[in-house]
Amino acid sequence: MKQRLLFLGPPGVGKGTQAQQLAARRKLLHLSTGDLLRSEVAAGSDLGREAEAVMARGELVSDALVLAIVRNRLENHAAGWLLDGFPRNTAQAAALGELLEELQQQIELVVLMELDDDLLLQRLLSRGRTDDNETVIRHRLEVYQAQTAPLIAHYRNLGLLESVEASGTVEQIAERIEALVG
Ligand code: AMP
Repeated sequence: MKQRLLFLGPPGVGKGTQAQQLAARRKLLHLSTGDLLRSEVAAGSDLGREAEAVMARGELVSDALVLAIVRNRLENHAAGWLLDGFPRNTAQAAALGELLEELQQQIELVVLMELDDDLLLQRLLSRGRTDDNETVIRHRLEVYQAQTAPLIAHYRNLGLLESVEASGTVEQIAERIEALVG
């Protein structure tokens, strides 16, 4: 069974749901940078105040801020983890590579969840998060294409990438992912 996993895919594809459920079944740490940032915003911390406006616009929060969050969690959780929403650009992927080398841990599988743009938009519009209005959603999809999608080739070249069609029910998608994790 693979236990150091990374989930990749556009906003609205269902990464959060699948990542959370898989992590619970396999007893892995679910590390969602989006969830961690939202809890900082809710707590009104300095970090949360810094992130809030950026998130509301659908832009990416600074690499340094996100990296500090991730380093802290991974250092204390070597056994197994599932990264969701991080890395989000090539600089973060490079920083993650260095961090994992330092911690002597390795990514075992990158799951790319794929879905048609129209379905993504529908899913995002039905979710009702504060950064889920149509203008911001379109911008988040553009940011994904420009900054995050290049990671697909990066992880494919490392031989780590497997794709999953993210249509159908939550259970059907979960079965496809389970088959890859082993
Ligand atoms: P998510 O829940 O993954 O869709 O993330 C929601 C928002 O949090 C994003 O639109 C970004 O503003 C911010 N965010 C989450 N993860 C990252 C990351 N790895 N790097 C930069 N910003 C992030």
